[in-house]
Amino acid sequence: MRDGLQRPLRDLRVSVTDRCNMRCTYCMPCEVFGRDFVFLRRAELLSFEEITRVARQCVAMGVRKIRLSGGEPLLRHHVERLVEMLAGLLDVEGKPIELTMTSNGVLLAKRARALKEAGLTRLNISLDALDNAVFQRMNGGRAAVASVLEGIDAAQAAGLTPLKVNAVIRRGVNEREILPLVEHFRHTGIMLRFIEYMDVGVTNGWRLDEVVTAQETLAQIDAEYPLQPIAPRYPGEVAKRWKFVDGGGEIGVIASVTQAFCHECSRLRLSVDGKLFTCLFAAQGDDLRGLLRSGEDEAANDEALRQRVIATWKRRTDRYSQLRLVRTEMPREKIEMSYIGG
Ligand code: SAM
Ligand code: SF4
Ligand code: SF4
Repeated sequence: MRDGLQRPLRDLRVSVTDRCNMRCTYCMPCEVFGRDFVFLRRAELLSFEEITRVARQCVAMGVRKIRLSGGEPLLRHHVERLVEMLAGLLDVEGKPIELTMTSNGVLLAKRARALKEAGLTRLNISLDALDNAVFQRMNGGRAAVASVLEGIDAAQAAGLTPLKVNAVIRRGVNEREILPLVEHFRHTGIMLRFIEYMDVGVTNGWRLDEVVTAQETLAQIDAEYPLQPIAPRYPGEVAKRWKFVDGGGEIGVIASVTQAFCHECSRLRLSVDGKLFTCLFAAQGDDLRGLLRSGEDEAANDEALRQRVIATWKRRTDRYSQLRLVRTEMPREKIEMSYIGG
C-alpha cells in the first residue's frame, strides 16, 4: 500500500499517555505544562484492546515495527500488558513484528525485566547530558542522570538490546555534553544518537539558531575520535550511522532539520485518544475512537477500521521537513509531541 507520494506504510508509533514525569524544555516546557495544564481523562484514552485492534489492521496493511511512546510510556498503568498483546502480532510475511519503546529511562530500573518478558524487542532511552546540572536544566529539574543510567543498565541486563540512547542538542544549553556522552557510551555496545532539535508543536519557542546541526556534532566528535560512515541497513533508516575508526563502536545522527528524510518516511502515528496522524508536524488527525466505540459487531467494525487506515494512508502527501528547508512561512498550528508520540 503506497501513499500519495509512493511511500509504503511500515511503521506505527503509538502514544500511550500524554503525561510525563519530566518537563523537557524542548517538549513539555513547565511554563505551559504546569499545575493547571489539563491532561486527557482516562476515558478519553484508547484502551489496550482498542490500541491492539488498530495495530492489527495497520500490521495487515504492511506495518512491521511498532513503537510505544508518549509522554512517558512507563507512566501508563500496566503498559507491560499492552506490550504482551502487541507482541503476538505477525507481519504480512508471517514474522513477529518488531516492538519497541522510547522512554526517558527514569522508571526503567524496576520495569526492564517485565517489559522484556512481556515481549518488548528493544528500547530507546533519551539522555541529553551526563552533567546533572545541565540535564536538569534540560528536563525542568525533574530527574537525575543517575536514575537514567540505572535504567540503561537494567535494560541492558534484561537483554533489551541493541540499546539506543538519544540526545537532543540545543545550542547554548548542552552542546558541551556531546563529547562526554560519546566517551561514556563508546565501547559499551550502546548506540548513541544525536537528534537535531525540531520545531515540533508550538510550545517550545523553537528557533533555527538553537539547532546544533548533525554536521557540527559530527565535526566535534570526529576531531577527537575519528569517524567513518556506515552504509544504511535498509532504505528509510532515519539515523545516519558512523563508526569509530579505533573500533569503539558506532554513533548515529538524526538530521531531521538539515537533511529532511520525508521522501522515505513510512510512519503512521496513533495519538493517545485514537487519532491517526500522517506526520509529526500535522495539525489534524483522523479520529478512530468514535468508530472503535460505535458498538457495531466487531468484525464489521474491524473492516471499517481497515478501510479508514487505507484511506488515510492513500491520502497522505506530508513532507513538512522538506518544505521547511525551502519555505520561510510554515503552518502555525501543530500538535504537541507528547500527545502524538515522539
Ligand atoms: N518520554 C519519552 C522520552 O523522552 O524518551 C518518549 C517520548 S519523547 C516525546 C520521544 C523523543 O522525542 C525523545 O527522545 C525526545 O528527546 C524527543 N524530542 C522531544 N521533543 C523534541 C524536539 N523538539 N526536537 C527533537 N527531539 C525531540
Ligand atoms: Fe517527557 Fe520525553 Fe517530552 Fe522529555 S521528551 S518531556 S521525557 S515526553
Ligand atoms: Fe515524516 Fe512528516 Fe517528519 Fe517528513 S516531516 S519525515 S513526512 S513525520
